[in-house]
Amino acid sequence: MSRFSAIRVIALKAPQSLRPVSRFVPLLVVGLLSACVGLSQLPEIPRADMERMRADVEFLADDRLQGRETGSAGYQQAANYVAARFAELGLVSITGEDYFQQVPLRKALWDPGAATLVLHSREGDITFDLGVDFLAAPSAAHRDSTTTAGLVFVGFGIDAPAYGIDDYAGLDVQGKIVVYLSGRPQHLPNEVGAHFASNRTKQRTAARRGAVGTISLNTPMRELRRPFAASTKHLQDPRWDWLRADETPGNAIQRLQPGVMLDMPAAKQLFMGAARSLDTIFTEIENGLVPQGFSLPDTATLTSSAKHQRISSPNVVGLLPGQDPQLKHEYIIFSAHLDHIGIEPDTNLVNNGAQDNAAGIAVMLEVARLFAAAEHGPRRSILFVAVTAEEEGLLGSDYFAQHPPVAPSSMVANINLDMPMLLYPFRDVIAFGAEHSSLGETTARAARRAGLKLSPDPMPEQVIFVRSDHYSFVRQGIPAIYLITGREAIDSEIDGSHAQIQFLRDHYHRPSDQSDAGINYIAAQQFAEVNYAIARDVADSTQKPRWNQGDFFGELYESGD
Ligand SMILES: [Zn+2]
Repeated sequence: MSRFSAIRVIALKAPQSLRPVSRFVPLLVVGLLSACVGLSQLPEIPRADMERMRADVEFLADDRLQGRETGSAGYQQAANYVAARFAELGLVSITGEDYFQQVPLRKALWDPGAATLVLHSREGDITFDLGVDFLAAPSAAHRDSTTTAGLVFVGFGIDAPAYGIDDYAGLDVQGKIVVYLSGRPQHLPNEVGAHFASNRTKQRTAARRGAVGTISLNTPMRELRRPFAASTKHLQDPRWDWLRADETPGNAIQRLQPGVMLDMPAAKQLFMGAARSLDTIFTEIENGLVPQGFSLPDTATLTSSAKHQRISSPNVVGLLPGQDPQLKHEYIIFSAHLDHIGIEPDTNLVNNGAQDNAAGIAVMLEVARLFAAAEHGPRRSILFVAVTAEEEGLLGSDYFAQHPPVAPSSMVANINLDMPMLLYPFRDVIAFGAEHSSLGETTARAARRAGLKLSPDPMPEQVIFVRSDHYSFVRQGIPAIYLITGREAIDSEIDGSHAQIQFLRDHYHRPSDQSDAGINYIAAQQFAEVNYAIARDVADSTQKPRWNQGDFFGELYESGD
């Protein structure tokens, strides 16, 4: 019987180590590799403690914590728990006594009257219905605001000279409301496209060009991916932002009227009497063309009315000082979000958030314990950070990345954990961000050491690289990696893809994401060990991580966001 399957049997019956008996072979390879890159001193990967992680998950995902929503008592209990664990592990608090970095937040909710959109056409005013014709969100930047201005259609609203796109070319949008198609031209590479297609990027471009407001348009392509009707369910959702010292929001653009999204039937009215109809423009997209912009005949008025709540919620920060006289002044940020989405409004059930992200926090704590217990401390310093308000827009990590307790230039890498999907013992891992920096090689090397392989992103169309906390660090020019378990189960009876897709369909952001709902702690052990191996490699390597030559994100965020 091959050692391998033997391992499979042993693993399934008893929580034995899953590292393949044949680990000597990869170790031989690693030996050769590490010799040439000066990693020979890398210690053995120590054993991770499943029961310790189970205890952390069960506490954090307990009903008493009420789903750990940002700003809630349950979240504060979770933060106190993580701080106590950090103290237990001997991590240093560099943000004062309590390991807390308070994040000042603003929660915006609709005020009566909410938002209105009126088109002033030659045939008279057309008033659109919120939640039927258009969508809007309460603004964290403005309590009450009104803007009346001319309309200019700007295609997709993208300015990407490196890709030969300037949708504003030849258009004067000074003091205008710009109207742009949601999405992006299909020839842009996935992650680059996601960057330029984001409302954040488009609104910044519009503001930079002098516009005073934005109207994004639903398109047939977007309707297929995310029906307008489905988005109306979130109309009453609050919007959050973190606050600067002067109490202005960190992300919202002050000089822009809060943006709205217009559905297709209503949007056609904006193009009545214009150079081209919206249907013509949709046909151009279908034919792979990039629609050119032009002025629209009418003006419009946008209003928005929101009430603001000021909320403070802590990131929990623990330092493991480096041992190398030089490299200890460089910091690896090991992050995981602690918050979740609280109580389900319709059912009053608790969204316990066991996989999302109590499991990520438990793995982060176990990695910290493995370092604290190691014979040799890391050469570089490591900041373990449990961040708040990830579910509200990556806000805790964004605030930390822009207000770090250490010199910004001393942060050399981010390793992020978010909903690792610990569902079965696995053969491979997926590293979002691996193709952008030397962290890709590091992760492949560490995975090999852990007897695992690195698999490509199975859902590139989801563009996960820009959707979790590591992206807050990428935006500050810091190479980052975000690992999840792969889709190859050790047990060939288990279809990993099916299991992950089923979890995402049935349990993601649902009350059923509970601690007794199939978290596999052998997978947790494997996952903690490979993340430890990555962090150890980054911490002890002579070279610090670097962006790949000519990498889009490396160049885009060279000097921060
Ligand atoms: Zn999450």
